[in-house]
Amino acid sequence: MAEDCIFCKIINGDFNTEFVYETDKLVVFKDINPKAPIHLLLVPKMHVESLNELDDKELLGDLMMGVKEVTKKIGLKSYRTQINTGKEAGQEVFHLHIHILGK
Ligand code: AMP
Ligand code: ZN
Repeated sequence: MAEDCIFCKIINGDFNTEFVYETDKLVVFKDINPKAPIHLLLVPKMHVESLNELDDKELLGDLMMGVKEVTKKIGLKSYRTQINTGKEAGQEVFHLHIHILGK
């Protein structure tokens, strides 16, 4: 857990955020400012600033499998995924997350 990290606080349960999906490695919750009818964020429980700081192949696999598992769970067959890496690419929260966008 990183101090002053909003996603670490969410994972810690500080805001009673509802998790759409959860495993021992990751959580999925709704984006507070949705840019599509369905807009979820899939977030590793471990604090990693961005994709550039992640070298753990197993965790990377778990995150992508998590995308498949949560979309299957909610019956979302068609969706877009997005990872913003770095400020200039639009990353605002520096705790790695995968956007899942669908209709
Ligand atoms: P990014 O620009 O890739 O860093 O995306 C950060 C995303 O986190 C944005 O789409 C925000 O709307 C979303 N966000 C920020 N704070 C919260 C929060 N407390 N709960 C849910 N989503 C959030
Ligand atoms: Zn964090």
